[in-house]
Amino acid sequence: MTPDFEAQLRAVSLRVTRPRLAVLGALRDHPHIDTDTVIELVRADLPTVSHQAVYDVLRALTDAGLIRRIQPAGATARYESRVDDNHHHVVCRSCGAIADVECAVGHAPCLTASNDHGFVVDEAEVVYWGFCPDCATSTKPTETASSEGNR
Ligand SMILES: [Zn+2]
Ligand SMILES: [Zn+2]
Repeated sequence: MTPDFEAQLRAVSLRVTRPRLAVLGALRDHPHIDTDTVIELVRADLPTVSHQAVYDVLRALTDAGLIRRIQPAGATARYESRVDDNHHHVVCRSCGAIADVECAVGHAPCLTASNDHGFVVDEAEVVYWGFCPDCATSTKPTETASSEGNR
């Protein structure tokens, strides 16, 4: 049913197991989810899988480069299975929603450091912070200027 995932696992010398296939499937359908959501989705398929087993799978798949761990400052770690490019993320300050932002030039590193300090740079990771459309429209403009400013 999931021959792609099996091939992916074999390509990095990982044994094909049902929890690993379930995690890859969950991340394909739901990019940028946190560990708790991964566990929830995996358990929908495999009710007996333990939390620890899912943690172990996430670590093994991350180490093998099949999934990518994203950890915006102050937010819980998220995972995604889109690893074959150098895309960036935009994060909502209010609800934590994450969306992909395409790389400016399509391959790593897509940005040229103004000063690379002699390092050989092979990747650039940018996090754009702001408010998602839902949060932007539900946030009323604050009235902080009422007691000062132009009054
Ligand atoms: Zn939001
Ligand atoms: Zn992404």
